Amino acid sequence: MHSIKQIGKRFWYSTPISDTDRPVLGMVVGSGKALMIDAGNSESHANYFFKELQERGVPHPDIVILTHSHWDHIFGLPALGETLIVSSRETKEEMVKLQPLSWSDEAIDERVHKGIEIEFCAAAIKKEYLDERNISIVLPDVLFEERLEMNLGDVTCIIEKVGGSHASDSVVVYVKEEKILFLGDAIYCRMYAEKWHYKIDETLQLLDKLEAFDAETYILSHTGVLSKEEFQQETSMLRTIAHLTERYNGEKEKIVKKYKEQLQREVSEGEMDTIEQFVNGY
Ligand SMILES: [Zn+2]
Repeated sequence: MHSIKQIGKRFWYSTPISDTDRPVLGMVVGSGKALMIDAGNSESHANYFFKELQERGVPHPDIVILTHSHWDHIFGLPALGETLIVSSRETKEEMVKLQPLSWSDEAIDERVHKGIEIEFCAAAIKKEYLDERNISIVLPDVLFEERLEMNLGDVTCIIEKVGGSHASDSVVVYVKEEKILFLGDAIYCRMYAEKWHYKIDETLQLLDKLEAFDAETYILSHTGVLSKEEFQQETSMLRTIAHLTERYNGEKEKIVKKYKEQLQREVSEGEMDTIEQFVNGY
């Protein structure tokens, strides 16, 4: 089940659900305007968030920013009504490609078979929507290229396109006064591919961009909240594995051996998966 949490004075979010692939939804509330971060994987996901926030006296969003074009972040848009939709130009271009698709079981299964859709997303869509699939892709109203600053009234959001292996259109939202960095799916690996993977350069460039923000709290769409320390552990792992992959030309055994030596402990299951994903991307 979801729950609603508040961080600081101006930020609310709903926790993710892995079963139906519902990501975190965020709401930044200034004295002038309210900004929602991502629209959710369905209208019922977005409506759940609105209902819970309304009970807490939080206003309906004036603006929504999309972190990237993946289905679970945009299918909730029809529930937003008059809310102004903002995205990067690239996110809009990706959304346009989704518009002609059918979301029937047969159409989804066929795309999985062709390797265009992921098995795990297909299962999540079927679970989230059951038999009623009136999915429509609502396109953004306002586009930006690289960076955008929004003043919501006593709170400022800096929105920056950071890219990375997960999706080249990934953007992050930095809530300056609360020192929160909303990462979306940016630091995850690429899943829309034959093998889940990370690219070394993409990852290192992404980490440089993320580390430039002076944040204390980090939000990952399918994981939840990380403290600064937890975020640093995550980025240090990604950086180390990226460098070892480069140094050992993607040879898994050598990477694992060296990584173990550096840590002076056994490699965890999660770290092993990450090594595998860098090897896949090499
Ligand atoms: Zn994604």
